[in-house]
Amino acid sequence: MSFESLNLHPLILKAINDAGYTSPTPIQEQAIPELLAGHDVMASAQTGTGKTAAFMLPALHRLASPSEVRSRGPRVLVLTPTRELALQVSEATAKYGKYLPRAKVVSILGGMPYPLQNKLLSQMVDILVATPGRLVDHIQRGRIDFSRLEMLVLDEADRMLDMGFIEDVERIVSATPATRQTLLFSATLDGPMDNVAARLLNSPKRIQVATSKAQLNNIEQRLHYVDDISHKNQLLDHLLQDIALKQAIVFTATKRDADMLADSLSAQGHTAAALHGDMSQRDRNRTLVKLRQGGIRVLVATDVAARGIDVAGITHVINFDLPKFAEDYVHRIGRTGRAGASGIAVSFASSKDGIHLKKIERFTGHRIASHVVPGLEPRVKPRPGGGVQPRSTTSVAHKRSRTWSSDVPHRSNAYRSDGDWKAGQSRSPAGNRDTWGNTASSTRASRAGSGGNGRRDSLGNTTASSAYFRGK
Ligand code: AMP
Repeated sequence: MSFESLNLHPLILKAINDAGYTSPTPIQEQAIPELLAGHDVMASAQTGTGKTAAFMLPALHRLASPSEVRSRGPRVLVLTPTRELALQVSEATAKYGKYLPRAKVVSILGGMPYPLQNKLLSQMVDILVATPGRLVDHIQRGRIDFSRLEMLVLDEADRMLDMGFIEDVERIVSATPATRQTLLFSATLDGPMDNVAARLLNSPKRIQVATSKAQLNNIEQRLHYVDDISHKNQLLDHLLQDIALKQAIVFTATKRDADMLADSLSAQGHTAAALHGDMSQRDRNRTLVKLRQGGIRVLVATDVAARGIDVAGITHVINFDLPKFAEDYVHRIGRTGRAGASGIAVSFASSKDGIHLKKIERFTGHRIASHVVPGLEPRVKPRPGGGVQPRSTTSVAHKRSRTWSSDVPHRSNAYRSDGDWKAGQSRSPAGNRDTWGNTASSTRASRAGSGGNGRRDSLGNTTASSAYFRGK
């Protein structure tokens, strides 16, 4: 299918041509005709699939004809969960709408000064891209006129739900005309999304482009089992030494950890920076520009801040901490392998991550191959085909509280389906609990010499089937 066959306005086709797009992506192919026909649409599509153009091209097509209502308010409203995504949508919109006479984009985001936003809102706006909280403020102050609003887009609606924005979203929706066309984009169209759609959309067409599995095909996913934080740091150090790693996003669970890790990496001589929600919008933008320009090799980020980052140079995503939600995993690793490039996603999983790992693998339908770096093996290593076994070095194995054998199930340490390790009564007194709740008793040096039982990959790492956290 070609863009020409979608019957988009010639000035939009011209901009698409300038952008170098030769054919529509699957979400564009399916959503654009429905949207041009005026239907409400709910679509499961993630960033990286071309979803922004899927909703923005039909929106711009509407704007090519003048509004019948005389007002200065927006004709298209896009709500996004984060400021980064809003800015990205605004940038893409400016790109696709650059030849249209009536496509003025305004972004209204939290963390930016009100006086400037008040000024922007007092002028003519065609497309308003906003985060929900700040927009509600402006609506309550009577600063927005929705009388000519024709289209409302809820981008990453699942995330807005997760982040607790749904009340704000509903408030905003109730301030818009009932005649609007409503679009909902979400990573998944599950029960909660169905409920939201039933309340806010009118007989929507449902579009499911591809499974998460298919969308991640160009990303090689790897898993490293880790014992503790120091093991993670050593593995990270190893990964960052790889010259094939051009730019990486390293995800941590908390903002504080992102700051600390970025500081520590900078101190080690890496060009590293943190990106998280406690930073001012100015600093976040500056960091993103620097990342885009190649001035940052390692960005240490939290989920919310990194959502929607679209930087072609990201070769690696490293989950220093595994995300709690499977959807976040997909979003995170989708920061690499952009626009058809290939990417590598490495996840560190500790003993506490078993349940999250299972959820991720169920969600993506993909079992992540575990890798071992010689010299940095986990104290327990996976055994092909299920179960785990003690390391061959008996001097280490006998010291460990987790002395595993798949032949003789070690009940006291069995992984439970609720994601906890059952603390073993058999813990060795020699073992010290580390910050991960594991028992540590050997130095990292004891890792050396155990080459793993799998095959070696091109980087000299050893691959084995991953059965470490999986219940029997
Ligand atoms: P999105 O999913 O909207 O974040 O888009 C992901 C990336 O795909 C962006 O860099 C877009 O510029 C790019 N893109 C969108 N549509 C197309 C297309 N039809 N052909 C090639 N690249 C595209």
